Amino acid sequence: MSERILVTGGAGFIGSHLCEVLLDAGHEVLCVDNYFTGRRENILHLMDNKRFELMRHDVSQPLHVEADRIYNLACPASPVHYQFDPVQTVKTSVMGAINVLGLAHRLRVPVLQASTSEVYGDPHIHPQVESYWGNVNPIGPRSCYDEGKRCAETLFFDYHRQHKVDIKVIRIFNTYGPRMHRNDGRVVSNFIVQALEGKDITIYGNGQQTRSFCFVDDLVDGMVRMMATEHGFTGPVNLGNPVEQTIASLAETIIRLVGSKSKIVYRPIPTDDPMKRKPDIELAQTKLQWTPAIKIEHGLLRTIDYFDKLLSGVSADTHV
Ligand code: NAD
Ligand code: UDP
Repeated sequence: MSERILVTGGAGFIGSHLCEVLLDAGHEVLCVDNYFTGRRENILHLMDNKRFELMRHDVSQPLHVEADRIYNLACPASPVHYQFDPVQTVKTSVMGAINVLGLAHRLRVPVLQASTSEVYGDPHIHPQVESYWGNVNPIGPRSCYDEGKRCAETLFFDYHRQHKVDIKVIRIFNTYGPRMHRNDGRVVSNFIVQALEGKDITIYGNGQQTRSFCFVDDLVDGMVRMMATEHGFTGPVNLGNPVEQTIASLAETIIRLVGSKSKIVYRPIPTDDPMKRKPDIELAQTKLQWTPAIKIEHGLLRTIDYFDKLLSGVSADTHV
């Protein structure tokens, strides 16, 4: 059945892929974005679709629209962007959550929150299970994002308990793919752009910190599955690829896949940079029948291809 679906942050990296998948499934999509980190180019190829509507709006302000379901993705996600205006980051997470939850309450519709593995901070439990409460610095430079997202989760569960709102909370682990912002400072986009341009590959710290990278198509599939679960299944559910690797090995893989002559240089590690990150996805496997299918090399090749075209100016068409 065709529904009208609100996607906040729909002009961003993950949001644009989600809008595309929802339109392909026959739904109407209302994309709400203030273009802080999102771009028109990400959704340009959707503009001609009569079932796609774009609204420029800041989610920290109340939202008066109609929808059958809500995906709340609006929030800068990379450290460079969320630390640019930390107060606004907290407002986006917290006020944004209050506004979409108020909307979901009024409309009596399900609302999905794009939470993050950052709620685990620098974890003492490995791999991270949903029952782990995390190890987060409340006053550091990453706190605006980590604590903003934690408070948003609190609000989601309070609206659920107090107002019976049908909430779906997912904790997204590092995700990569086409339409990542080339300057957002995240490791996959940084390394690929550096490798393609023949510049030095900047490893922060000694490169022995780990992350687990999920290709965006797999993630969006998990998001849609979570939204389809029965009323009352709230999560939180980890969504990520459990294949863990060091940042040093990621650098080597990208240099090899690009065939680059770039050399590796080492830079100081940012404050509170987590040492390891790997999702336990048993809950997603059992409740959503979801397991990421795309191998890292395949996903990286598709991402390299995207950046290659972007950097050489071959294609402004971001339909990838
Ligand atoms: P992104 O920066 O590409 O997208 C975020 C979008 O939200 C952008 O289009 C931006 O313009 C919009 N936005 C920001 N503040 C807004 C506001 N106040 N009002 C309206 N729109 C606003 O980031 P992404 O990687 O696509 O992340 C999407 C969501 O997923 C975020 O909530 C992020 O926290 C979460 N997430 C992403 C990752 C990841 O690895 N990419 C990991 C964990 C969680
Ligand atoms: N990183 C790096 N070089 C870069 C960008 C990031 O070594 O050019 C490291 C960063 O310090 C972190 C990891 O890669 O340990 C992942 O960083 P990212 O910002 O992509 O994600 P997050 O830290 O939020 O997981």
